[in-house]
Amino acid sequence: MIQQIEASPDEIYDIELEHSLLEANAKLAQENRALLDHHGITAIDVMGAIGSGKTTLITRLVEGLKDQIGVAVFNGDATTSNDADLIASQSVPVVQIATVKGCHLDANLVGKALRKTKLDNLRLIFIENIGNLICPAEFPLGSKARVVVVSVTEGPYMVRKHPHMFLGAQLVVINKIDLAEAMGVSVSELSEDVHRLKPDITVIPTSCKTGAGIDQVNSALLAV
Ligand code: MG
Ligand code: ZN
Repeated sequence: MIQQIEASPDEIYDIELEHSLLEANAKLAQENRALLDHHGITAIDVMGAIGSGKTTLITRLVEGLKDQIGVAVFNGDATTSNDADLIASQSVPVVQIATVKGCHLDANLVGKALRKTKLDNLRLIFIENIGNLICPAEFPLGSKARVVVVSVTEGPYMVRKHPHMFLGAQLVVINKIDLAEAMGVSVSELSEDVHRLKPDITVIPTSCKTGAGIDQVNSALLAV
């Protein structure tokens, strides 16, 4: 079942980041977190560029978890429901968050999605952020952990070009490793780039095609 909410015009924030706006967002993020904590739910914010494989990764992770624990997915997308439809095929609750012109999710929209969701019996909520490696970093949502998904198809410099995304993350997934050789991209060099920015962060290489790394990601997420 897919529910849907949409940003109304007064909720579409400009990319110009005013201090008061970020403060308001941070306060709402704290409220989201308090609500989640009250219900014993861990929310995971999944960030990454368009095409990094966020949706497919979430689908695989859900596949491995849904028989053991209650899982729901909030799917941020500008306008379409393609991704939400794909995830809903896993028979878990999905809320599609259409940001319309917004280029990131914010705590207000996530709060609205939380109010749409039956929180009893949930243990994990995946929040798929908008495909963008810049401003989502500025907007905490109330999640317990932020995951950045970077794919070998994005070339060798994705990590270096977006330090803020990685500095704010608790877990990094290097996705589509089955394509690394064809792309001429080194998984270990991408991993080293991440560790240069944040030495103690966990980096897990994955392939949604072969299933490599999926169980490790789930174990890491259940441990946060
Ligand atoms: Mg997606
Ligand atoms: Zn944005």
